[in-house]
Amino acid sequence: MAATLVVGMLCVHLLCFGVMFLLISARLKDKKLGMEVFAIGNFLLGTAYVLQLLGGPPGWGAMSVVNHTLTLCAPAVYCIGAMRFFGRATPLWRPLAALALTYTAAQALVHWALGPAARYAMLAGASALLFLGMTAAVIVGARTFARDLRSEMIVFAVLIGGICGLNAVKFAMIVQGGLPALDMDARFQTAFYLYMSFLATVLAPSIIWLVLRRLTDELRAMAEHDPLTGLLNRRGLLDGLQAYFRSRTAGPAHLLIADIDHFKHINDTHGHQVGDKVLRHVADVLRRTIRQGDLAARVGGEEFVVVCLNTDASGAVRLAERTRAAIENSGAVVADEPHTAIRCTATIGLSDGFASAQGLDHAMQQADAALYRGKTAGRNRVEPGSDTLLPGLASTAAPAAT
Ligand code: GH3
Ligand code: MG
Ligand code: MG
Repeated sequence: MAATLVVGMLCVHLLCFGVMFLLISARLKDKKLGMEVFAIGNFLLGTAYVLQLLGGPPGWGAMSVVNHTLTLCAPAVYCIGAMRFFGRATPLWRPLAALALTYTAAQALVHWALGPAARYAMLAGASALLFLGMTAAVIVGARTFARDLRSEMIVFAVLIGGICGLNAVKFAMIVQGGLPALDMDARFQTAFYLYMSFLATVLAPSIIWLVLRRLTDELRAMAEHDPLTGLLNRRGLLDGLQAYFRSRTAGPAHLLIADIDHFKHINDTHGHQVGDKVLRHVADVLRRTIRQGDLAARVGGEEFVVVCLNTDASGAVRLAERTRAAIENSGAVVADEPHTAIRCTATIGLSDGFASAQGLDHAMQQADAALYRGKTAGRNRVEPGSDTLLPGLASTAAPAAT
C-alpha cells in the first residue's frame, strides 16, 4: 500500500516537472539546453509508473511490456538530454526508437526462453548497467567538460550511483527469489520506490538549477565581454581588477591603452567588415602577448586596454613595447584577399602603477593623455604617462606609421 502511494505521488511529480521542463524549453527558443529532452524523459518515466499502478501484479501483458520498455528508455533519454545540455548535438528519436524496439523484442525473447522472472531481472540488470554508465560519465564530466559544475556533478554521481546500487540488489533478489521479490508491500520495494521518489524530487529542481546557472553565467559573460573580439569590456575590466585587488598579496597594476593608427583609413579602403577582422586580429595578438592573469579589454571602437598585474614599471614598459611590436609585425589575413595580410600599427599610452580598483579611472586618464602625445609625436610608439616610467623605456621610438 505504502509503495503504491509513493508510486502515485512519483507519477504526479514526474509529469508536473515534465510540463515545467517543456515550458522552460519553449522560453529558451534556440538554445534549449536539453530541457525538451528532459521533459520527454519525465513523461516516459511518469507513464511507466502509471502503467505500473494500473498493471496489477507482475506478469506478461502489453501494459507490463510497455512499462518495462519505458522504464529503460527514460534514463537513456536523460543521458541524451544531458549531452544536449553540455552542447553536444545528439539525435533523440532514432536511437530512442531503436532502443525501444530492441528492448521490447528482448523482453519477448527472455520471457519465452527463461520465464517471467527473467524479464523482470533483465530490467533491473539493464537499468543497473545503464545507471552505472551514467555515474561513470558524470564522474568523468566533473573532471573534464563539466568542471565548472563540479559540486553538482558529484551530487548527481552519488544520487545516480544509489539507484544503480538498488537496481543491482533488485536484480540479485529476483534471481534468487523469483517474482515474489517484487511484491509491492515488501520492505525492499517500499525502500526502492521511496528512493526513486526522493530522486525524482531532488533531480528535477537540480536540473532547473543547472539551467539557471548556465543562463546566469552566460548573461554575466555577455555583460562583461565585447561581442566582436571576445575581450573584456569596461565593466568586465573593472570586475577583473576588483577581484585581483581583493587579494591581500596583490602587487601594483599598470595600464596601457593601445589605439590602432589610422584605423579609419583601413575601414575606408577595405570596408567595415575587414575593419572588424583587423580588430579581431589585434585582439588575438593581445591575447597572445599578455601574461596569463593580465586583463585585456576593448573599450572603444579601435581602442584596447591591457592591465598588467603584479608587475613593476619596467615590466609594464616591456609588455607595452612587446605589444606594439607584435601588432606591427603581424598582419590580419582576410578571406577575400588570402595572400595579402592587412598590417596595422598601434600607439600605446602607459600609466603609472596603481594599487586599487579605484585607481582605474586615473590610470585611464593618464594613459589616454600619454596616448594623445604619442599620436602627435608620430604614432606606432609607446608613450609613458609620467617620467617615472622613463628608465624602463629603452627604445620605443619606432618608424612612424604610413
Ligand atoms: P588615429 O591614428 O589618430 O587613431 O586615427 P584613426 O583613424 O584610427 O582614428 P579615428 O578616431 O579617426 O577613427 C576611428 C575609426 O574606427 C572610426 C570608426 O568608424 C571606426 N570604428 C569604430 N568602431 C568600429 C567597429 O566596431 N568596427 C569597425 N570596422 N570600425 C570601427
Ligand atoms: Mg586610432
Ligand atoms: Mg581611437
